[in-house]
Amino acid sequence: MFNILKERFGYNSFRTGQKEIIEDVLNGRNCVAMLPTGGGKSLCYQLPGYILNGSVLITSPLISLMEDQVQQLRNRGEKRVVALNRFLSYREKRDVLRELASYRFIYASPEILQSPLLIEALTRINISLFVVDEAHCISQWGHDFRPDFLKLGLLRQTLGYPPCLALTATATRQVIDDIVTTLKLDRVKQHMYPLDRTNICLYVQYVHTVEEKIEALKQLVATLPKPGIVYVSSRQWAETLAQTLHGDYRVSYYHGGMDGEQRLLIQQQFVYDQLDVICCTNAFGMGIDKSNVRFVIHFHLPTQPEAYWQEVGRAGRDGNESIAVLLYAPGDEQLGQAMIDMEFPTMEQIVYALHALQNGQKETGLTDVQQRLILYWLEQVDKQENIHTLAKQLYVRIEQRKQEKMTKWAFMQRWVNEQTCRRRAILSYFEQKPLRNERCCDRCGAHLYVNAHIRQNQQVQLRSWREELRSMFAVKVENE
Ligand code: ADP
Ligand code: MG
Repeated sequence: MFNILKERFGYNSFRTGQKEIIEDVLNGRNCVAMLPTGGGKSLCYQLPGYILNGSVLITSPLISLMEDQVQQLRNRGEKRVVALNRFLSYREKRDVLRELASYRFIYASPEILQSPLLIEALTRINISLFVVDEAHCISQWGHDFRPDFLKLGLLRQTLGYPPCLALTATATRQVIDDIVTTLKLDRVKQHMYPLDRTNICLYVQYVHTVEEKIEALKQLVATLPKPGIVYVSSRQWAETLAQTLHGDYRVSYYHGGMDGEQRLLIQQQFVYDQLDVICCTNAFGMGIDKSNVRFVIHFHLPTQPEAYWQEVGRAGRDGNESIAVLLYAPGDEQLGQAMIDMEFPTMEQIVYALHALQNGQKETGLTDVQQRLILYWLEQVDKQENIHTLAKQLYVRIEQRKQEKMTKWAFMQRWVNEQTCRRRAILSYFEQKPLRNERCCDRCGAHLYVNAHIRQNQQVQLRSWREELRSMFAVKVENE
């Protein structure tokens, strides 16, 4: 095991939890493992891939995530790895299916795992390990709920219950229970490791108005070591803030409204240190493996503790000192509340959408998330009912879900006004306790600015980049 760790992966030691999880996996135990973002979850199935007989099947919610992993494995000289997604041509797919057993690692999106041809091919080979990455997506209480994930339990059954490893970085008890039930995991071993990230200082900075908030942001960006991420709650804010900071730093924005290619470009620039700051919505970050992010600033109060913690966790994956600052102005609650309200369709909207779906119209008037949920629930009810009865049934489900969201939102509102340790408070949500930490949070007396010498060095470097920046982003900025 240690040989493989060194020779294959080039690491000298295991990180917390990796060894224990890998041992259980090698013993064929079903496992749910919760390790913090950047904790090294991939290794927990990649290393066993070199010991177990057969193929490791991995599914994960984002195609880009899987592409990254495949690329990394290939860079390490692994040829027996393939990613199956809907972008493969018919011929490519056919060729892969014919030789499926020859792959050590098979990455597949949950959607493609419903293809009967693929399922049939999978039943004919030996799956030594069934991996579900970002497994919180399985739970309808997870903030990234994906109905396709729910069918993975059925798939696992069809494949004769191969040993399973479910991985996540954020999950409450309720979500873990959902994962275990959905994937039909018996005799499951739960590996819950501390989610605390001791090298990230937590800070809430209170301001009075939006204008002050923007000034505070500028100040932070000017003084904190970079690179960093600024999270906002709307696409427009992402663009506005990028524009505000533009000129002094290499900065860009990222949100779900941009086309795939543009997003990939910005993501690459950030990962390869060509940007100092990225202003983005929560569309950015999942699975991005960048170790040296020095700050994460929240310009708006996230509505869910899971989302906040996951976003904070994108800082300091290299273990070096980092900071997470949340900027808060009175009235921010209204924005959060509005976002939650918008997330859930009204009765009228449901009726409209049901009519549209019945008539085979594409335009339902719902957002993607709303539509996903409604289609998922529709699968579970008697569709012969008339539309108003159906709408009422759906509405009950929606109200339930909204209540759950409101509970999380209430937690965040309390947290932002917390008078005692921030870390203790946020971790209590995950039923965990903080690990010892000197620079803990603003309530524990931490200061915002450290490492003045690093700042100076960076500024010198920045100036020399400025012209290049201008030419890089000039066109885009003028178009905004
Ligand atoms: P996670 O999926 O838990 O967020 P990853 O599996 O993407 O984390 O790993 C994060 C980073 O840590 C990667 O760059 C990986 O190469 C590195 N890493 C993983 N395990 C080790 C280890 N034992 N020693 C050193 N680096 C590791
Ligand atoms: Mg991962």
